[in-house]
Amino acid sequence: MNKTKNIAIVGAGLVGSLLSIYLSKRGFQVSVFERRGDMRKTAEDAGRSINLALSTRGIRALAEVGLAEEIKNVAIPMHGRMMHDQKENLTFLAYGKEGQFINSISRSGLNIVLINKAEEKKVDFFFHHKCHQVNFSETSLILQTDDGALIQRKFDLIIGADGAFSAIRSAMQITDRFHYSQQYLEHGYKELHIPASHAGGFILEKNALHIWPRESFMMIALPNPDGSFTCTLFLPFEGEVSFKTLNTDEEIIFFFQKTFPDAFIHMPTLLHDFKVNPVSSLVTIKCFPWVRNKSLVIGDAAHGIVPFYGQGMNAGFEDCRILDQLLNQLGDNWLEVLPAFQMARKKDTDAIAQLAFDNFIEMRDLVADPEFLLRKKIEAKIHAAYPDKWIPLYSMVTFNDSISYSEAYIMGQKQKIIMDKVMERPRLAEHWQELNLKQIVDQL
Ligand code: FAD
Repeated sequence: MNKTKNIAIVGAGLVGSLLSIYLSKRGFQVSVFERRGDMRKTAEDAGRSINLALSTRGIRALAEVGLAEEIKNVAIPMHGRMMHDQKENLTFLAYGKEGQFINSISRSGLNIVLINKAEEKKVDFFFHHKCHQVNFSETSLILQTDDGALIQRKFDLIIGADGAFSAIRSAMQITDRFHYSQQYLEHGYKELHIPASHAGGFILEKNALHIWPRESFMMIALPNPDGSFTCTLFLPFEGEVSFKTLNTDEEIIFFFQKTFPDAFIHMPTLLHDFKVNPVSSLVTIKCFPWVRNKSLVIGDAAHGIVPFYGQGMNAGFEDCRILDQLLNQLGDNWLEVLPAFQMARKKDTDAIAQLAFDNFIEMRDLVADPEFLLRKKIEAKIHAAYPDKWIPLYSMVTFNDSISYSEAYIMGQKQKIIMDKVMERPRLAEHWQELNLKQIVDQL
């Protein structure tokens, strides 16, 4: 195991591509096998521009391979949430302190930067190579090319970064004492589009993540560098208001006009987008162990989470950094590194899975609630007065990579108990400025 030289990564998505850079920098020979074609040569998702929120944990992992500045230059800062109510009123809620923001970034643009950098570092990419089978005792893969040919290859180490429906994890599932769970939400999502203005500018506030919270469902929109916004509608698959009940042109138009009036007027391609773009499902995937002999799963393959904290990719990038850190501490002794990695990460990825699940309710329902906004204002005031003692949960998760997800989760639970009591005080909306902040902080 000390002589590990040849490493196979399955999946050239965001995590597989970043990990290949980390490992090639350490001198390993890395081959990446991707079932799809080379995204640098194919049209981006049939013309759809999909974006993601990149935050501190992801940026730190990119910084360690020298890519943070390049990526930040093409990202759009989002300083807070812009809430749109049904009467077209807007409310802005900052994500953190002045100067703290998350970043809207193109998924394919980021992936391409990572693949290019990996190739510079002599990583070999094999596109149209689907992982068909894995043999954990021999550390070998059977790969299938598009013409159906099967190729067998042996490695010193195999890493499955092949996403939520991982072939490597599927093979682990039929090994002994492997724990696995998948939980689907009753909501699905569909991507829609708000184009740039005729002059090429942003029709909505550029530096915000827009939310149309509607209690049991919601729509969000993130800005793109070309002035457009990518919208995502999260709606139940079935029920009174659901994807199932939106079929005819009239039903779709009536629903958007009534529910998202200020977005609807800026969506000239709504009917086309709604009919052409798929409805995708949302799933939380947990499994353990992540290691079988000399094979490991990482990123969504090990921990698929729902997207409501904007952390799936950030958590996967943090996986890469932590694995690299363990290689620094333990040397290239993978028999120690792999178990240490799963022990270090499992509790943290379970914590972010739960936080992401809980945040759906906050985003679709609470952000429109005056009591929730007051709670956020009070917490921001406490944080300003005691910046090291009371860090709001969102900030711990999003802006503070020295606090692990599991520590943030536990601290968030404690803060919630204290804040629930504060919020019970009579006529708080009038008197919140007079709260004894020290007394609140001392309870933590
Ligand atoms: P993937 O990106 O899924 O990549 C896996 C790769 O493996 C793919 O290229 C796939 O083709 C390939 N592959 C699969 N099977 C095989 C096989 N058998 N053989 C060979 N190759 C294979 N995260 C954030 O941090 N911020 C956000 O704002 C955010 N928003 C999101 C919004 C939505 C709607 C969704 C669904 C997710 C969002 N995420 C977000 C999560 C993020 O997309 C994932 O966490 C991230 O893509 C995981 O990267 P990955 O490389 O592990 O998996």
